[in-house]
Amino acid sequence: MTDWDAIVVGAGPAGSALACRLRPHGRVLLLERDAAVAPASRRIGESLPGAARVLLQRMGAFERFLADGHAERGATVSAWDREEPVWFDHLRDPNGPGWHLDRARFDAGLRETAVAAGAVLIEDCGRLRVSRSADAWCVDVEAQGTQHRAPVLVDASGRGATVARQLGLARRSDDALICLYAHLPADADDEDQCTRICADRDGWWYSVRIPSGQRVLALHLDADDPALKTLRDPERFLAKAKRQPLLADALQSAVAVEVHARPAGSATLDVEALADTPPGFFAIGDAMLAFDPIASQGIFHALASAESAASAIERPSGNAASARKSYLDEMQSVHARYREHLHATYAGVVRYRHASFWVRRIEG
Ligand SMILES: Cc1cc2nc3c(=O)[nH]c(=O)nc-3n(C[C@H](O)[C@H](O)[C@H](O)COP(=O)(O)OP(=O)(O)OC[C@H]3O[C@@H](n4cnc5c(N)ncnc54)[C@H](O)[C@@H]3O)c2cc1C
Repeated sequence: MTDWDAIVVGAGPAGSALACRLRPHGRVLLLERDAAVAPASRRIGESLPGAARVLLQRMGAFERFLADGHAERGATVSAWDREEPVWFDHLRDPNGPGWHLDRARFDAGLRETAVAAGAVLIEDCGRLRVSRSADAWCVDVEAQGTQHRAPVLVDASGRGATVARQLGLARRSDDALICLYAHLPADADDEDQCTRICADRDGWWYSVRIPSGQRVLALHLDADDPALKTLRDPERFLAKAKRQPLLADALQSAVAVEVHARPAGSATLDVEALADTPPGFFAIGDAMLAFDPIASQGIFHALASAESAASAIERPSGNAASARKSYLDEMQSVHARYREHLHATYAGVVRYRHASFWVRRIEG
């Protein structure tokens, strides 16, 4: 049995950020299911607002971040409430325009920063068995036959929330949104730096060029949309995108490539049940609250919730219960604000308000 101050499950942005923050003072074990960071062609989620700078600085990860060559975020052009495009320029944001990330490099950079700070990382960890003994959390890494114990256990395993589920916590999905996406090959003539967003009758699209030069093309639909299956066909997917004038412009010489699918709807853990778990258990990032991609808030939330959880974990042990309660209160208010903004965003699409995708989100 090895003793730690904290065991963090999942080395995505949330788990790695928390390990960076806790490591200067504590012994941190980071357990990751995958053998390495997934390749860029599989990762989705690339827009990071300028406000993330201060969080990355606090984690000691900003210098590495700057060296990794992420691109400055250009304007957002959207055909949302009407067909004519509207421009929004992030340059006016007091925190700066933000970035379009090389997502694989971003995730790997945070993970490596955590390890350089002294966190111990076990990749390819296989199945984990979580239990509680006396006043500590125990994690068996079954594939290795090793056992680990800590007063703090953190679920940073993303949408799967695997630790929370093992503890019997329910996860509420607010809607069954699916994202179909493709990484289109780099086109030397494509110098566009904008994020293009547009509403469609049965969903919405975004497209952005990432630092590798590839272009991400993504469509968000209901999980029960009958067209979902046929749109996995790369030619049909691209042809549908080209019917949107705002996208057609950027897709002139695009070549159809494999289309992936991922769940993308809002989901949250039951906060009241979480508050009743034994002390020292936290969930952060998508495991705590997963956002609809229209909010473009998931990576920022991963970093911010790691920062808030770190502050709660570092509080003197006499205040541990109230510190966790403050953390959960903060997550509840983030969720309430997000729901309000999300509803207003979808309600803006008056032109399709009678189509079922939009009715579900505006009236549901
Ligand atoms: C279509 C789409 C577009 C998006 N666009 C944006 C965007 O533009 N901007 C933005 O900010 N966000 C965006 N997001 C959201 C963003 O990608 C996520 O919010 C972010 O990745 C959450 O980070 P995380 O660390 O909580 O979870 P993840 O990134 O999912 O990381 C979880 C980690 O835990 C590991 N893991 C899982 N299970 C286990 C286990 N049992 N044991 C050990 N390890 C485990 C996984 O391998 C992974 O490494 C988008 C999401 C989608 C679906």
